[in-house]
Order: sequence, then C-alpha cells, then structure tokens
Amino acid sequence: MVLSKKQWYAMDAKEVANALNVDREIGLSNKEAATRLQANGKNKLIAKKKDNIIFVFLRQFCDFMVMVLLGAAIISAAFGEIIDAAMIMAIIILNGILGFVQEYKAEKSLESLKELYTDEATVFRDGKKQIIPAENLVSGDVVVLNQGCKIPADLRLLQCFNMEVEESLLTGESRHVTKEIYAVDKAASLSEQKSMAFSGTTIVRGRGLGVVVATGMATEMGKIADLLTKATVEITPLQLKLKKLGKYLIAICVAVCALVSAVGIIMGGDIYTMILTGVSLGVASIPEGLPAIVTICLALGVWRLAKCNAIVKKLPAVETLGSTTVICSDKTGTLTENSMEAIALYLDGSWEKVKGFSSKSAAAKNALKVMVNCNSILENDENISGDPTEVALFNGALNIDDTIKKEKIDEEIPFDSKRRLMSVLIGSKSLVKGAPNTVLQCCNKIQQGNRSLDLDIKTKDIIRREFANYSQNGYRVLALAYKEKVNKVTEMESALTFLALVAIADPIRKDVYNALFKANTAGIKTVMITGDDKGTALSVAKELGIAKDENQVMLGSELQEVNEKSPKKALDNKRVFARVNPEDKMKIVRYYKSQGEVVAMTGDGVNDAPALKEADIGIAMGLGGTDVTKEAADFILTDDNFANIVEAVFQGRGIYDNIRKFIRYLLSSNLGEVLTMFIAVIFGFPLPLLPLQILWINLVTDGLPALALGLDKPSPSLMKAQPRKKDEGIFADGLGLKIALRGILIGVTTIFVFLYAIITYNDINISRTMAFTALVFCQLFYVFDCRSEYESTFALGIFSNVYLLLAVGISVIMQYVVLYIPWLQQVFHTVPLTLEQWGIILFVTALPTIISGIGYEIKKIVNNSIIKKEKYI
Ligand code: ATP
Repeated sequence: MVLSKKQWYAMDAKEVANALNVDREIGLSNKEAATRLQANGKNKLIAKKKDNIIFVFLRQFCDFMVMVLLGAAIISAAFGEIIDAAMIMAIIILNGILGFVQEYKAEKSLESLKELYTDEATVFRDGKKQIIPAENLVSGDVVVLNQGCKIPADLRLLQCFNMEVEESLLTGESRHVTKEIYAVDKAASLSEQKSMAFSGTTIVRGRGLGVVVATGMATEMGKIADLLTKATVEITPLQLKLKKLGKYLIAICVAVCALVSAVGIIMGGDIYTMILTGVSLGVASIPEGLPAIVTICLALGVWRLAKCNAIVKKLPAVETLGSTTVICSDKTGTLTENSMEAIALYLDGSWEKVKGFSSKSAAAKNALKVMVNCNSILENDENISGDPTEVALFNGALNIDDTIKKEKIDEEIPFDSKRRLMSVLIGSKSLVKGAPNTVLQCCNKIQQGNRSLDLDIKTKDIIRREFANYSQNGYRVLALAYKEKVNKVTEMESALTFLALVAIADPIRKDVYNALFKANTAGIKTVMITGDDKGTALSVAKELGIAKDENQVMLGSELQEVNEKSPKKALDNKRVFARVNPEDKMKIVRYYKSQGEVVAMTGDGVNDAPALKEADIGIAMGLGGTDVTKEAADFILTDDNFANIVEAVFQGRGIYDNIRKFIRYLLSSNLGEVLTMFIAVIFGFPLPLLPLQILWINLVTDGLPALALGLDKPSPSLMKAQPRKKDEGIFADGLGLKIALRGILIGVTTIFVFLYAIITYNDINISRTMAFTALVFCQLFYVFDCRSEYESTFALGIFSNVYLLLAVGISVIMQYVVLYIPWLQQVFHTVPLTLEQWGIILFVTALPTIISGIGYEIKKIVNNSIIKKEKYI
C-alpha cells in the first residue's frame, strides 16, 4: 500500500520504515543515501532569487550624485566643452566601477557569512551514528532527536521518550505538543499528527528517533517557505546612524557648493566654470563610499571573529561586542575543559579511587549499573558520544568492570538543569542519578554492602559532608540511587535507595588564565554562572581569580529572594552564581543591564534561550549547545572556550575602531576639499582647482585608501582601554574635533601651496597643478595618521597594513599619470612639476604627520616617566 505523503502519520512505524526501505536500527547505507540525494536534491528551502550583477552595476548609475554629474556633463557639452564632458562621463564610469566593486564585494562577503554556520543532523547510516549537514538528509534517514534540537526535516517518529515539541511556527499553537509513536487518524490536522515531527520545529523536552519522510520544499515548512526565505537585510545601529548622517551631509554639501558657485559668479567668475566647480565639489565632498566600506569592514570583522571560533548570527551584535563590560560565563566546558573523568566513589561508607576499585558488594554492582545505564549516550564501534558527565560515569564504570553491558531502556525521565535529576526504567527497576541534595531528598533507604538500611538524618548528614569535602576541591559530585520494584512511571523517582557518590574531575582550560587577565585589563568584569554546587564553583573561581571568598558567591535560591527594589546591595560584589536555574540567568542579566552594564551571556540548554535574547550579546555554545540556544544567540562559540569570548571582544573593538578610522579620514579629506574652494572664492582668489581636478581627487583618495583603512588589524592597545559606552556617538572622544581641525589644516595647506606658487612662479597652471597635487598628498599622508587615535603610524609599523601601502601606491601612480602623460595634461590642465616644486609639496603635506608622530612619542616618554615616578613614590 502506498500512502500519499500526507498520510505517513496514519501508518504504523514499522510500515513506514518498510515503505521507505530502511532498517531503523542500521539506517540507510551511505551509498543509498547518496543516490537518494542525487535523485531528490538537497534538504533546503529555496531562497528568493538575488539581484543579478548587471543590475547591481546599473544601480550605481541611479545614484543622486551620478545624476548631478550627468547634469554637469550635459552643461559642459552645451557650453561646447566636449573634452570636459567626455572626461566627466569617464569619471562617472570609473566611479560606477569602483562603487560596483565595493557593493558587490560587500554583498558577496555578507552572503558567504551565511555559510559559516550550517545546521547539522545526527543520523544512523550503515549502522553508525554520524553527524551530517542537515541539507544532506534524504527520505529514509533515521535521525536522532534530543532535547533542544531543531527538527531538520519532516519525520515520522519511531521512538519517543517524554518528547514535547514546540510547533508554533507551523501551527500557531503556543502550547507544547506531546509526541507519540502510534499511528493517528487519517483525518488528523497538522497539530493532531502526534506521530510526526515537522521540519523547523524544536524539541523542548525528551528525546527519540524519527525517519525522514519529506525534505526541503516538500516539507510542511516548505509550503510556507516563501514567508521564511524573504531576504531580510540586517542593518546595524551604526549603519542606521550613518545613513542619517549621510542625508545631513548631502544637504550641507549641496548648500555649501551652491554658495561657492553663487559667490563665485557674483564676484565675477565665469558662469560655466563656477557651476561646474559647484557640481564637482558637491560630488567630491559627499562620502558616497561610506555605506559599502562599513559593510565590508563589518563582514571582514565577522571573518576574523570566525577565525577565533565565534560565528556571528546577528550582525548588529558585532558593534555591541566592543562595548561589553560584563561577561557572564558558564563554568562547565567554557572555563573548564569539559573532558570529565570519574575519579572516586563514595560507597559503603568510604571513598575509593576508581582506579583499582574492587568492591563486589551489591551496592557496588547496582552503582555500576546506574553509571552504565542511566544516561542518553550513544555507543557505536568507534566511540561513545553524549553528555560529558554521563560519558565520564559510563567510562568510569567500564574501567572498573568492562563486562557490563548497556541494557534496553523501557522508560526515561530525562535530565534537565532545573530538576538536576535523571532516571531510567529497565524492566521494573528504576536507576537514578543527579545532584546529591536532590537525590538524597528522594531516598529513604541506603544500600551498604549487601544490606538495605533505613536512611536516617545522621547518615544523610555524613553523606552531605563527604559531598562538600570533594566539591570544595573543584570536583563535580553526583549521587546514584535505585528502586528495585516500580509499579508506575510516576514512582520512578520516589522512595529510592541511596547507593553512592561519584566525584568527577574537570580540568580548567589553560588559556582561560590569560584571557581573564586580558578581560580585566580591558575593564571587563567576569562573572561565573553555574548549575554546579557552591563548593565546586567557588573552588574553580578562586583558582581563576574570579572570586576570593564565599561572600562573593550567591546561590540561585538566594537570588530568588533578593528584593527587587534594592538588588544592588545584594548583588554588587557577587562574582559567582551557583546552583542557578536558567530563569535565574534572566534575573542576573536584567540586574547588570539595570546598572548600565553591557552584558555578554553564554548558554547551552533550551531554557537558556530567553536569557540569551535578553542579554546585549547572547553567546551559544557550539559543542554543548542546543539548536534552540543557537537560534536565539547573537554568536555561536564553536569551541565553547571562554578565551575566545575575550578574543571576540577584542575583534569587536577593532571593527568599531576601523569604522571610526575611515570616517575620520573621509570626512576630514572632504572638508579639506570644500574649504580650499570656499576660502578661494570668499577671498576672491583665482580657483585653486578645476572641476575635473576635484573629481579626480575624489576618485584617487576616497576609494581605495579608505577601504584599506577598514582592513587594518586591531591594535593590541585597544584592550588596554576601558570599554566604549554602548550609546556613544560615532564622533565621541573628540573625533569630531579631530576631523574639523585636520579638515581645516588640509584646506589651509592647499591654499598656502597655491598662493606660494602664484607668488613664486606667477603661472596659474603651475599653481593649480601644485595645489591639486598638494591636496592629494595631504590626504595620502593623513590616511596614515588615521590608523590610530592613540599611537603614531611609526609605532604601529608602516608595513603592518600592506593593503594601505598598496592603495596609497596606486593613488600616487594615478596622480603621477595625470601630471606626466601629455594628453591627460591637456585634459586636466596640468604641467609636470620640478624637483623643487615636489620638495615643497612633500614637505608641507608630510609635516602634520611627522609632527603628530613626534607628539605621540613625546607623550609616551612623558607618560612612562610619570608611571616610573609614581612607582618610586
Ligand atoms: P555550567 O552551568 O557550569 O555549565 P552545567 O550547565 O553543566 O554547569 P548543569 O548541567 O545544569 O550544570 O548541572 C547541574 C547539576 O546537575 C550538576 O552539578 C550535577 O549535580 C547534576 N547533573 C549534571 N549532569 C547531569 C546528568 N546528566 N544527569 C543527572 N544529573 C546531572
């Protein structure tokens, strides 16, 4: 019987597997999967078509400035200046090409960022568990499903342990749906198809297995794919601010340029030249490349972040990253290695090392049985995979007795960080493990040797003391218990018999020490948040220097009692939060945010997602994190390592710094150009630059050097400064003043060179050529000053940004070409310069860069001597 795709839910699980020609224990063979992939295509929702590149190229010419330039070309032609008109057209095309390259590159780099992170799925193929890209799933693949996982295709469920799924995206129903493996009625609606799990929905509880019945556009999600694949272009707050700034700048520039033209004409200037001057100046003074360069700079930053294992999911967070003031970090796996090892067992009244453990008592046998069976790990020929705590217990038990075999689990109540407990049912016996205090609360008996005794308060206290002793040394301690006869599933975790404690070691990551030091120097506070016990947490925090004593530790239960009105008193000095529930994380984020801090928060479990969303920067764990957390996060940390969060903050600071660099450069340079012409017109000097020369300067200086500034590597000194304020404007820290002063200097220098040449050589073409070249070189030297607000370009190393050297080199050659190629000399009204003239230009234009370099060095010497003196005192 072949049912239509819609009715898999109405078929028996076995029937489905048969119909899809797959064995549920072994899965498909890799060969068969490849054939099916070839036949049916990738498991992908097909995105909307993107803009064609010819369209992107043509779009460059729909710009406001191109329209103005076209107008200028028409005016030139109308006045009979055909060479000018042709040259303006050439400049329009060159500008268009440059704009196209920038925009195309920006779009391409943003696009390839999407490939940095792809969804994965765990499947059985050829009898082995494999992790494959979700887009390679085919009908018949048997998929492993865990809590927090995003369902990668439409599945008919084959096995369910307490599985609840969030399907609101598909059905609009916000209540979680409990899944079952039984066939349902053919007439069942989507939300009633409990035997199915649909692509794009998420498992909020439990685990299971399912077989793929539909992929890609054939899934239920595929039917509404159009709603989901609509391209949403993310725009960062800074880009938004710059867009607004751009509008103001255009208005100001148009006004100033109109003024220059009008005053020029009133003062008796030639109408044609003055109109063209106004237009060229308008075009040159608007930093049209800014948006594309910001995008390229952000995209490049995202690549650099990927290199330090931080995959950006939400672009705006890249800007916020640099202003992080508090990092709230998980302990397990982030500050520690998560390579857990069971070290010792407390059993029959004493601690015994796992190595050399030899007890054969009933308690020991049962304890080992819990360690091997009470988990959701998966074994195959080559490896064991799953939760590191569970793998540690499993391996520990096998080290003691390698003949124990994992048995078939009939029922399971999964672990979750709130209950801190997990239990399984094998036959009528329940096996339980969890946080010692939680397990002890469920026990009324203890097994010692071969006897089962009542568990009195005194014995419980002894066990708690033993647990505290081990946890104070940084060990994670779990308790094991069991129940011989369970009648109902609801009884699996009550009236238990206590068996043992197990101490698990988890070494601290080596590179975390240095990262914490760096964070501290950069004015960033590190706070540890853990589901682990107070003793374990404090021991690790002390070792790392995060906390000094118990006063700095707060328990999740204490946090819940903190008075909402005066949280500062209770929380201000806390550095460690232990035994916290995911909801407590939300309270912690909100507290720090209310204190004006910018909070980065890590998370892995399903329930961490709301706190990650609430944090300024939500960081999901790549290795230990669930799909739900990854979806909610701004970043995914692929190796879960704390050191990389600090590295990402450094990169974040670098990206913002680079954006400030080229804004500084572009705006000062453009101001310099406008001022040169403005001063000349106001004082009634002859025009120092001709319209074509202005357009040339725009081409030579605005594009490549500004772009190269955006490629600068972040300077280590960025991590010696305090964090930038989150809502700080782009011109903060005196940047606006720096831009204005340097713009004035560029304008004055150019006018100075022009007037000097007029007085000395009394030749307008020599004077204009000198002013033209001086203006270009003012900007080409200045670009080096823009590399840092704290150091000279010499201290940074002239060769440390080769792209900049290359860009400046190309600009110098372009300038040389217009001065020395005869036909271009005619078009641009230039003359070749003598050595003496070059000497003067290079001297005055390089002077500010040299002086500021010397200034930085003197400041450094003075600061060092003050520090030395202070040390002496
Ligand atoms: P951190 O927040 O530092 O990353 P964590 O997230 O690993 O720590 P949880 O996983 O919430 O912390 O664990 C909290 C407690 O639950 C542990 O201290 C341990 O006692 C217990 N526990 C951890 N894993 C399991 C498990 N698989 N089964 C039963 N109990 C567990």
